[in-house]
Amino acid sequence: MIIVMSPEATDQQIDGVVKRIKDAGLDANISRGTERTVIGAIGNERKLEPEYFDALPGVEQSMHIVKPYKIVGREWHKADSIIDIKGIPLGGKQIQIIAGPCSVETIDQMEKAAQATVDAGCRMMRGGAYKPRTSPYAFQGHGAEGLAMFRKAADRHNLPIVTELMDVRTIDHFLEYGVDVIQIGTRNMQNFDLLKEVGKLNIPVVLKRGMSATISEWLMSAEYIAAGGNHNIIFCERGIRSFETYYRNVLDVTAIAVLKKETHLPVIVDPSHAGGKAWMVPALSRAAIAAGADGLLVEMHPSPCDAWCDADQALTPLELKNLVGTLGAIAGAIGRTI
Ligand code: PEP
Ligand code: MN
Repeated sequence: MIIVMSPEATDQQIDGVVKRIKDAGLDANISRGTERTVIGAIGNERKLEPEYFDALPGVEQSMHIVKPYKIVGREWHKADSIIDIKGIPLGGKQIQIIAGPCSVETIDQMEKAAQATVDAGCRMMRGGAYKPRTSPYAFQGHGAEGLAMFRKAADRHNLPIVTELMDVRTIDHFLEYGVDVIQIGTRNMQNFDLLKEVGKLNIPVVLKRGMSATISEWLMSAEYIAAGGNHNIIFCERGIRSFETYYRNVLDVTAIAVLKKETHLPVIVDPSHAGGKAWMVPALSRAAIAAGADGLLVEMHPSPCDAWCDADQALTPLELKNLVGTLGAIAGAIGRTI
């Protein structure tokens, strides 16, 4: 069962609900989001009825939740959640395209990439300073220095930044450089300790799908973040492993429809890591928008053939601009805007 507190609920009223749960012999998980607090009753729920809570001061609604993902599920929150990223809405009518290089390389590269992001009509920028690479000998990212470069280039163009966090020990750097959206990569989707730490932060999170994760495992990973109080989660489908070797991963378009049904949170798609080739990115992007994705996370490099990482899949600035130009018609056909 979950008990959703009204936005104005006081600590005393929250304590009152927790006491009632404990008096019934159950445990309580208090998830204090920025907008509202959601209390989960853990244990034998059959002992509880919504009427025990609905009359308590500060309670907005209480209900039995059948699905194991309680806070991220649509059962209690029917409307789409819109996440505010420095004034830019993600999850509403307007589709957001987050563009930028795989990794932060140089000041010049980031400056050109930021300019190209804005020129293409995108409102947010991506770039990795901590890179999860298959080989320990490959470029691992510039770390904190990369965050500094990214921040500087993006600030000049007023772009919020999206960047990957791999290790709890670097969270201080993310706070220092005011990272606007934390990305959890495919390899860390089930790094539960990392998810718990991110759950304590008040920063939106892009949660990528594990490359072999089922949709319910993915939803449960989001629940880890939400249980800690961070309700600003954006799902990102980035392709899953299969027997096919022609392309890097299979873009699971079906997952977009499933997630839009199961969760109230926004869903975006990374067509770059799905296809793994720049020429596939436009087709996959169009499919994603048509299927109901709330945004895209696209790799773009000022000079793809010089990219230090994922050169094959990066769009040129012109290709990005052309792509964004074609997406408006698809968005319009389903009542959305770019
Ligand atoms: C990335 O976005 O640069 C990245 C490493 O993605 P993924 O975790 O999906 O492989
Ligand atoms: Mn990449």
